[in-house]
Amino acid sequence: MRVKSVSYVNNSFSGNLPSGLILRGKPTTSHQMACIQNSFDGKKRKMKIALRCLALVLMAGLCTVGASAGEGQPIAIVHARLIDGMGGSPVENAAVVVRDKTIEYAGPASGVSVPRDAQIIDATGKTVMPGLADLHVHLQGSWDGISVDLLGYQRYLKAMLYAGVTTLMDTGNYQPWVLQLRQEQAAGRLQGPRIYCVGAMIDSADPAWPDLAYAVTSRYQIPEIVRRDKAAKVDMIKGYSNLSEHMLHWLSEEAGKEGIRVVIDQWERNGSPDLVATGISGFAHLPTRKMNEADIQFAKEHNIFFITTLTVTEAFARTRLNDIGFLKEPYIADTTPPWFLTELREFANKPQTEPEKKETQESIVAHQEAMRNVKKLHDAGFLIATGTDAPYPGVFQGEGLHHELELMVEAGWKPLEAIRASTYDAARLMKAENEWGSLQAGRRATLLIIAGNPAERISDTRKIETVIQDGKIVDRTALKYDMKTDAGYRAVPGLFNP
Ligand SMILES: [Zn+2]
Repeated sequence: MRVKSVSYVNNSFSGNLPSGLILRGKPTTSHQMACIQNSFDGKKRKMKIALRCLALVLMAGLCTVGASAGEGQPIAIVHARLIDGMGGSPVENAAVVVRDKTIEYAGPASGVSVPRDAQIIDATGKTVMPGLADLHVHLQGSWDGISVDLLGYQRYLKAMLYAGVTTLMDTGNYQPWVLQLRQEQAAGRLQGPRIYCVGAMIDSADPAWPDLAYAVTSRYQIPEIVRRDKAAKVDMIKGYSNLSEHMLHWLSEEAGKEGIRVVIDQWERNGSPDLVATGISGFAHLPTRKMNEADIQFAKEHNIFFITTLTVTEAFARTRLNDIGFLKEPYIADTTPPWFLTELREFANKPQTEPEKKETQESIVAHQEAMRNVKKLHDAGFLIATGTDAPYPGVFQGEGLHHELELMVEAGWKPLEAIRASTYDAARLMKAENEWGSLQAGRRATLLIIAGNPAERISDTRKIETVIQDGKIVDRTALKYDMKTDAGYRAVPGLFNP
């Protein structure tokens, strides 16, 4: 049955239920309890009062649209276009019912039974879909990817949530720092996306990121490092660029005994059969090397996953920085301090030296190869999830994920497939698809309402109106960068020795 479109704005409820919506459940609000009491006052007036009660009950629900649902109050999103995150065709005129932290119903309006006390959100012409995941990001602030602004953590966590990134994996950081962020977010004391992390990276005696890595000089150190990471409950272990294949083999084997997967980044070697053969589970970036049929086949046999990060290969190619008009994008402009943008503009306008120009040329070729590979690997059926590697020049925490989706579509993915890589497949990559990443009954109620149709135009994911995280409507206005309340912390130099 098609649900008639009704407007709930200006609290102009007329007393008629939207056709096709069934109310159910016991009334619980004081409004509703008073109504019950009244309805027993006299038989003659019983019907009249009961009708008034129904109107009050409905108004109690409808009048709160735009504000947070009361504690324990269910939320019903009606008249929406539903994208389930699993790649299914969008369902027009769908409904989603959220109770506490969980999705109670997601599907056609004809099958919904709206709880009597629900806060109703009319999503006519809009899309409801799962929150997005960035499975390759670094929680250390700055804009250049190297300097470090740990104290600014609230700003960048807010920027991600503002942009609908409700889940992230930090793929290399100061271990106690990121463990504490994960712990505090999980406990509900720190606002931000749900956090997974790899802790510090594992690298050779000369780590590329000395501040962010454990330096391993002998394979006999590996059991102790894995034991420490196991105790820290890291979500994966990250092997980094200077580790030999021999060391990667020992790392994968030792981590495997503890049930921990190893994800690696070895730059231009990503995707190579030599690395696949070491026993790793996946690559933290798409390959920028040419992947021939045999390489693809070998990786497929080893059930390898990939995290995309096309935005960062594009950043090194500097193609996005040629026109910095994108800095006006609301997800950037609303969440970023002015000095951040000033420094980035200066970087973008600074003439490059000859060696830098050569490096950029090589990066353009690498990015083009990554764009070809994302299509090839997708066609070959790999598990691929979205990541950005933010922050890097032009790659923002939050906005970067939307650009990542656009690049995937530019590379030949269908919009729904790109969305799936950022929702259901991201959850599959984290082995959490039974918990989050799709709109179906029983999953975490973390979802977005979008004023557009990203199934047709992927850039419509830039039109988020509402973020619901674990069943609660997020106050997005409070997530915006505010010069008056922001402490204005500046980054300090970080160490990078490639
Ligand atoms: Zn990274």
